[in-house]
Amino acid sequence: MTETQVQTGFGRMARRAESFARSPWTFIDQFLDLHEDLIYFGNGAPAAERYPVARLREAAAASWQAIDASALDYGELKGYRPLRNWIAARMVEQGFAVTPEQIMITFGSQQGIDIACRLFLNPGDLLIAEGPTYIGALQAFDAYEPEYMQIPIDSEGIQIDLLRAGVERSGRTPKLIYVIPNFQNPTGVTMSEERRRALVDLAEEWDAAIVEDDPYGEFWYDVPPPAQLRKLSGRVIYLGTFSKTIAPGLRVGWMVLPEQLMPLALMAKEASEVCSVRTVTRTVHAAANGFLDQHVEESRLFYGRRRAAMLDALAEYMPDDVRWTEPGGGFFGWVTLPAPLTASELLPVAARHGVGFLPGRFFYPAAMGDDRALRLSFSVLSEDRIREGVRRLGDAIRSAQSLQ
Ligand code: PMP
Repeated sequence: MTETQVQTGFGRMARRAESFARSPWTFIDQFLDLHEDLIYFGNGAPAAERYPVARLREAAAASWQAIDASALDYGELKGYRPLRNWIAARMVEQGFAVTPEQIMITFGSQQGIDIACRLFLNPGDLLIAEGPTYIGALQAFDAYEPEYMQIPIDSEGIQIDLLRAGVERSGRTPKLIYVIPNFQNPTGVTMSEERRRALVDLAEEWDAAIVEDDPYGEFWYDVPPPAQLRKLSGRVIYLGTFSKTIAPGLRVGWMVLPEQLMPLALMAKEASEVCSVRTVTRTVHAAANGFLDQHVEESRLFYGRRRAAMLDALAEYMPDDVRWTEPGGGFFGWVTLPAPLTASELLPVAARHGVGFLPGRFFYPAAMGDDRALRLSFSVLSEDRIREGVRRLGDAIRSAQSLQ
């Protein structure tokens, strides 16, 4: 089965609809029932055990007690003021100069990506992203039909010399630069301070905007990551979210916007959402206030143990010629296979061995990128399952190599 199997019966659809016909899950799902007890490393959500259900129930009850008719009207396009105050105060505490006026609440950071595209991209505009990058960002970008330039990353993040050379060679100037500097999805890599400075300098030179997507920055397991890009430059649109620290089903995130972009961003948000989700933002505020710091600290220990389980198992079970990243935080590791094996070829073999993952090519536009690598998410699986899954992966790689 390919990834583009949708027949609509309508012959005159928008060109962008083609991008929505592609689904990585169509390809992957066909393998997941090849084994009755498959260990699936493809799920990048937080662990269910870390959803603070009791706290959210209490917070929802308390916040609904205080809700009257006026809070159920349209309004609060920018977001619930006490929540914006709370986010700003917390970011200031973390060394980030931001005011509540610069913050707009979004429907998850995914909406922030979409709003940035609405404000900056015409079809054919040059968009820079890390190669590989987050699948959901590619899904959002595709609808705006940019010309992609993906720049390979190494252990210090996006390779600035390749970026500069690529842009010079193209003879064009990028308009938008999308990066995940902390514990990147999918590689787990963190951008070094030097590269952060070089990137904001380039954006200045090119008059480009940077989207800094930061869902994992708080989940560091060794040392905190370097300063956010937003601290270094006013050209940066910063995206934060409660999806990993509390729960993704709440759909509450935020954008920190340069002042002059705020009026446009508000109208772009109004065009799709009319106003913010007034009830849930009250619940999130009541839940986070006086709770989140401690919760995140516990999450660091929790996910840190899972990260260690994955790295220990990789060291024990991978064949000699396999390489992997050593994430300092976040949810992901990136495993590179020995040539000529590709991750898409390995997946059916791996599924028969009882293990699944996301092949590398899905982290590139139209799923057409380097397929030598694969992403392992360690967030949702127990340490025992991680260990067993990596053991099965090692066996599957040896078995696939023997078939070649
Ligand atoms: N950006 C990145 C890099 C992500 O990994 C994710 C979630 N997987 C998102 C954005 C979307 O997050 P949200 O739930 O806040 O929309």
